[in-house]
Amino acid sequence: MLPQLGSNDYTLTMDSNNCIFCKIAKKEIPSKLIFENDDFVAFNDIKPVSPTHVLVIPKTHYGNLLEVKEKELLGKLLHTVKEVANQLNLKEGFRTVINTGDNGGQTVYHLHVHILGGRFHKWPPG
Ligand code: AMP
Ligand code: ZN
Repeated sequence: MLPQLGSNDYTLTMDSNNCIFCKIAKKEIPSKLIFENDDFVAFNDIKPVSPTHVLVIPKTHYGNLLEVKEKELLGKLLHTVKEVANQLNLKEGFRTVINTGDNGGQTVYHLHVHILGGRFHKWPPG
């Protein structure tokens, strides 16, 4: 099942042929890549909302969390988030976010984990 389109300004991506994050993962378009392993890449968010704002994405296209069937991939994703956070030296802590679907505020339909650091992040979020 394809993900639902959102209703905001970003170029929404529904499949791997027309997906900006797939293109970043394949290095077809430039980004500030800060980490790469076999299954994931991490890069700086183009519109940071915190002093550190990094996105961790699988190299394989999944529209969002609901599309992932492989348990192992989700374990590896969280492990990679931890490695990236360690590399970023976020000793005072950080926020991790996965926005899913319209109500989750998802704007790019390729699964990604936000890592937000460098300031206090209040709870609950907006
Ligand atoms: P979300 O709202 O959770 O789908 O987050 C999508 C994020 O992708 C936003 O924080 C955007 O600023 C970010 N973003 C969109 N296009 C790019 C891009 N080309 N390079 C880096 N980050 C991007
Ligand atoms: Zn993609």
